[in-house]
Order: sequence, then structure tokens, then C-alpha cells
Amino acid sequence: MTRRTLVAALTGAGISTDSGIPDYRGPQGLWQRDPQAQQLVTIGPYRADPDVRRRAWLMRRDAGALAAEPNAGHRALVDLAHTLPVRVLTQNVDGLHQLAGLPARKVLELHGTAREVQCLRCHRRTTMAAALDRVAAGEPDPACLDCGGVLKPATVMFGEALDPVVLDQARTVAQACDLFLAIGSTLQVHPAAGLVETAVEGGARLIIVNAEPTPYDELADEILRDPISTALPALVHRLRA
Ligand code: ZN
Repeated sequence: MTRRTLVAALTGAGISTDSGIPDYRGPQGLWQRDPQAQQLVTIGPYRADPDVRRRAWLMRRDAGALAAEPNAGHRALVDLAHTLPVRVLTQNVDGLHQLAGLPARKVLELHGTAREVQCLRCHRRTTMAAALDRVAAGEPDPACLDCGGVLKPATVMFGEALDPVVLDQARTVAQACDLFLAIGSTLQVHPAAGLVETAVEGGARLIIVNAEPTPYDELADEILRDPISTALPALVHRLRA
């Protein structure tokens, strides 16, 4: 009996930098370097302080993340998914894998999505675009239209736990895959690091595509240091051959 290679692709901030999205969250990311900015994405201050929320909404408005476009790296994974079963486990919240054309069911967003907002009280989800429209129309801290609760991005903020269901699904994929691609992630933080270990322990081949060394380079079958938007299309071309 033959079976097709299941590919798990873990993606981090590096795959989106060519789309103009900086690394906010990584060990060297903006949030870590700027405590003032980190407050805006930490659940305690965000929940408690309307002034923090007002500044956070202005930051989201000015960041313009919803206007970002997928790049050649995102598109390469769509191409790969045309040939092999692929699951993307992403640390990014930008939604660019889906925008590039991957079906949502093939993407596990470990840190949630910045394209939606969620009410802290009734948990209803609506779009970030609609919330930002309200900010543009003059609401400094738009509240839930159903219950008046505080709205936050549907991302995992500092101080919040990852969704255990999503994390569980990611572990299952890592365990089952035959090939694990670690793309644009420093692999220094949970859960990325643990997923690499799970995959390798499960017998998967490991290919790392990252400009900088990672703690898992020694376990890798192959390491690609070239920029992701060139390295990944070339790798996918090889894997599809
Ligand atoms: Zn609500």
C-alpha cells in the first residue's frame, strides 16, 4: 500500500516580512523591545484600561495589516498543496495563507487571527475591517454591538493561553506528518519548538527554511538560508517533481 507524503509546514513571521508585516511577536520582535507597545497586546491592561484600548485601536488603524498581500512564499505553499496533502501550522495572525488560496481547513492559526475581533463578554466574532471602520468613523474604542462588551482582536494576546483545540490539532498533524517544514520561525518559543520535536520524534524529515540559525538545526535533514520568497518556491518545485 502506498500513501502520499503528508507535509506539515510551520510558518513564522519570516514568511510575511516580504509582505511588509514586521516581526511583532518573536524574541527580537517589536513587542519585546518596546514595553509601552507590549501593553497594547497584553490582555490584563487591555481589558482593564480604556486608554490602552484607544491606543491599541489607533495602532491597528495605522499598521494597515489588512492591506497586506501574500508573497511568493505563501503562494509556493498553495502550489505544494495542489500536489501533496499539506497542513499549515502558522504562528502568524495575518491570514495571508488563506488569502493566497489555501482552504481555511488546511490552516491552523496557533495565535488566532487579526482579521477578526472577538467580544470579551459574549465571545461573538465579527470582522476587524468593520471594527476599524467604526474607529475611522470616530469611535475611539468600539464596543460589541450585541452586548456592549470590550472588543479585542481574535488573536492570542500576551497573558492569554493558546486555544487547546487548535494546539491539539497541530500536535496531531506534527505527529502524523512525513515531512515537517519549519519556515521563517526562530523556533525559540512555545509551541513552535515543541511541534518540531513532536514531528522529529514521530519520524518526520525536517527541513528548516530560515535566515538565522535555530535551536533545531542539528536535527534538520536540510537547512535553507536563502530569503524565503526565493528558497520556498525552489524547494516546492523540487518536492513536486
Ligand atoms: Zn458581546
